[in-house]
Amino acid sequence: MEPQEKMSELPETFSDKLLGFTLPGRSARGRVVRLDEVVNDVLSAHDYPAPVTHLLGEALVLGALMGGLVKEEEGQVTMQAQTQAGVVSLLVCDYRGGSMRGYADFDADALAGLGANPSLSALFGEGYLAITFETGAGQRYQGIVPLEGDTLAEACETYFSQSEQVPTLIRVASRSSGEGRVAAGILVQHLPDGEEGRERLHVRMDHPDWEHVLALASTITHEELLDPDLSMEAIAWRLFSESDQIRVQPGAWLARGCRCSADYYASVIARFPVEEQHAMRNDDGVIVVDCAFCSREFEIEV
Ligand SMILES: [Zn+2]
Repeated sequence: MEPQEKMSELPETFSDKLLGFTLPGRSARGRVVRLDEVVNDVLSAHDYPAPVTHLLGEALVLGALMGGLVKEEEGQVTMQAQTQAGVVSLLVCDYRGGSMRGYADFDADALAGLGANPSLSALFGEGYLAITFETGAGQRYQGIVPLEGDTLAEACETYFSQSEQVPTLIRVASRSSGEGRVAAGILVQHLPDGEEGRERLHVRMDHPDWEHVLALASTITHEELLDPDLSMEAIAWRLFSESDQIRVQPGAWLARGCRCSADYYASVIARFPVEEQHAMRNDDGVIVVDCAFCSREFEIEV
């Protein structure tokens, strides 16, 4: 199919969806994501100040981009930014089969003192970023890198280059308007062994194919990522199709999803000694647990 034909068929341009693409002649693959309701649904469970809203929006885009790299439907990606003494002490976001959720713990008073647009280091101080990939088959691997750079996206690039030795470019953009927040992002990475991937130690960061892909991918702008007149496929075509063969694959639809349930919390509480369970009860004799991700409350009877 010709690129132009493909583009003209696209009805939606900004919805909660992933798109995958590969550049077979350049040993590279990419993901594009746009989030609309997912971001607003996740944020609506919380009442976060603007800098944390912005941060969580970025984290959800990153979670979706990395989730799009997991093939199995039940595969999961968890991203966790954590510090000892930072204003934001914890930021968690996870992806599983198109379901996304996230939350942040922070010191509201200290955050208010940072102004409208605090840097990543002002928000977190010294911390680390842990990214865990779990496949549906039960394999689990985790990489931890220092939380450095100007943005969470940069810290994720560091994760891929240091922890997986995969040269990766990531760009994230988000914007809030009267109707809420929209966010979008692109991830492009060099895979000498193709989409399947094998053991990839010591990939050269200056491989000519990657330099070519990086030069093209770097031209993406925040405006393009957020432009409702530009489809996700059009973004990929526009970046690469003039010089390279590109294969585009539709990806998962995304939605807010939490896996909390009364049964889950009952099973957690059941692991505590009985006296401790009793000490957790309120005046009505039940234990109230609220889910940090979605702020739902559960009453557990013991
Ligand atoms: Zn929940």
